[in-house]
Amino acid sequence: MTPCDFCGTVAASWLYEVPEENIPLLVAAGDGIAAPLPVDDGLWNACFICAPFVDGRDVGALLNHIITGARRAGVSFADEPLWHALLIGKYTPLMLDGTRKKPL
Ligand SMILES: [Zn+2]
Repeated sequence: MTPCDFCGTVAASWLYEVPEENIPLLVAAGDGIAAPLPVDDGLWNACFICAPFVDGRDVGALLNHIITGARRAGVSFADEPLWHALLIGKYTPLMLDGTRKKPL
């Protein structure tokens, strides 16, 4: 079973592939050298619950689903606005034109 990359609780049934040009970059600096690094591999497994949020490009509903599930599992968010901002930055590229969806 491949778990859903978003909620992590249900088996994934879809794979989303973000085109390389849409994968966000993080600039890593060390020893005077700065280099752009991809934030992720652009591959996202989604369950039947999360996939409609991705298809509908509804990052807010996707976040609500993820955070509600995490709270139910006992996770507490000390800094929820920061969490929201980070996840919006992470998931928004997935919802741009060019993302491909395949059944698993
Ligand atoms: Zn899910």
